[in-house]
Amino acid sequence: MSALALRLARPEVLALPPFDIGVRAVAGLADVISLDANENPFQPLGSSGLDVGINRYPEPQPSRLLQVMAGLYGVAPGELVVTRGADDAIDLLVRAFCRAGEDCVLVATPTFSAYAHFARLQGARVAETKLTPDFDLDPAAFIAAARAEAGLKLAFICSPNNPTGNPVPTRQVLEIADALSDTIVVLDEAYIEFSELESLAAEAAKRPNLVVLRTLSKAYGLAGARIGSAIANAGLIGVLRRALPPYPLPTLSIEAALTALAPARRTVHEERIERIKAERSRVAERIAASPLVRKVRSGGGNFLFLEVEDAPALARRLDQRGIRVRFRENAARGGVRVTIGTSEENDAALSAFGLDIEARPSRRAEIARDTSETRIAVALDLDRPGPRRIGTGIAFYDHMLDQVAAHGGFSLILSCDGDVEVDGHHSIEDCAIAFGTALARALGERRGIGRFGFALPMDEAEAQVLVDLSGRPSSVFEGSFAASHIGAYPTEMTAHVFRSLADSLGASIHVRVSGENDHHKTEACFKALGRSLRQAIRLEGDSVPSTKGML
Ligand SMILES: *Cc1c(COP(=O)(O)O)cnc(C)c1O
Repeated sequence: MSALALRLARPEVLALPPFDIGVRAVAGLADVISLDANENPFQPLGSSGLDVGINRYPEPQPSRLLQVMAGLYGVAPGELVVTRGADDAIDLLVRAFCRAGEDCVLVATPTFSAYAHFARLQGARVAETKLTPDFDLDPAAFIAAARAEAGLKLAFICSPNNPTGNPVPTRQVLEIADALSDTIVVLDEAYIEFSELESLAAEAAKRPNLVVLRTLSKAYGLAGARIGSAIANAGLIGVLRRALPPYPLPTLSIEAALTALAPARRTVHEERIERIKAERSRVAERIAASPLVRKVRSGGGNFLFLEVEDAPALARRLDQRGIRVRFRENAARGGVRVTIGTSEENDAALSAFGLDIEARPSRRAEIARDTSETRIAVALDLDRPGPRRIGTGIAFYDHMLDQVAAHGGFSLILSCDGDVEVDGHHSIEDCAIAFGTALARALGERRGIGRFGFALPMDEAEAQVLVDLSGRPSSVFEGSFAASHIGAYPTEMTAHVFRSLADSLGASIHVRVSGENDHHKTEACFKALGRSLRQAIRLEGDSVPSTKGML
């Protein structure tokens, strides 16, 4: 499997002995006295709270992060190398395979400039073929261009392409890899999370000559941490690891990546990606109406590619309004790449493009709350009815919180990774606190809301929930339950949840419940809460609903 990689690699890379750095401690295993690396035994001053040991050298390829990223991409840890961003993986590939003055890389332009940049830096030649006038990759032309080059080592395909957004169908990538069996085909999937494409990461691990690049910069919001990866068969990855510097990844970045990839955070990341995609459609549709814009391409990235009438005039307009976009005249006449931001940022951009945008401050909040017992992420949008995805670790409680959001008419993503093997108590309480905190944050100064909510449903069970979003916590719970548990959910937690919610939300919540069946009674409480919240959070005007003028 690695025969091709070994044959194509620079002989001097293969001849180098690995760095002799001894055994690096895995963070947290501190029962060894490390006097082997000339580190300073003291933590840097002022780094309290950073208990990750940044006075120590990190593992060159941190085992925990390798495992998590390999899991994310569906490959084995030995089939992936973690790099300082995907940029660094491009550089690493060129350094490992291209001899100065002899070897060559192929790019299909217009595309990401780093491929040619790093090749030239290494003294390798850059062969170019053109995308079609619609910026699609023509596989036959790409293969022909590759076959015309002696000394071709790497052929780069960017899908979705930067800056145009065009995806390259996976079938075509595989066709190219099959045809160019003596070349390493590098598929850059930096934007794949925003597209409809299937990743070829797992496929790359099985093939002799396909490398997939991934990054946490775009989809996971970690551009500043610089974490990317190259994925390929283990032999090829082994070649790349020989060309790595001894400690390429800063400990703080490793920690940031592990935190972002924690299971409790995944659903929020997924929801953010969905939101960016929805904004991409909205902005694409609206910006097409701008008199300044000739053509809009909405591909598979977190950006749009525009062709504008008068780029210098647009540059001046945007500059005056403090909006930065990328002018890409070399990709197309009047080419402009616009990244999708928050809805407020996008509105500002649309308005700078001469479009009328009604101001609509968003009522959203995101919370990450970690303790030693629970790790919780919440995303909430009071002005959208969905999506709703709840994972607290306690199925019945998931169902209850889902009822609150469904009847409340708002979007709620909540996931909790907690010590449910001990008991549901911590997870249930902490989720209530995180949910209440997110609600309070999304309500902001509570301008324009109904403030009060009343609900009285249903069945043989009857629950009354009265809500006043007064800013002041108080809670009353009248009612009792016969059973100790419903599934893994302790019935005594219901009163507790309503109290935690009142405290963290800053609300009076009064609950009265009666009936026969504990399941019905509990469900009635949560449904009624949803209905009350629906009234209380509804926008009715623009004033703060208090004679005091503040809540
Ligand atoms: C942004 C980008 C990268 C590099 O991302 P890193 O931040 O270095 O991980 C790689 N390829 C393309 C096409 C990009 O647009």
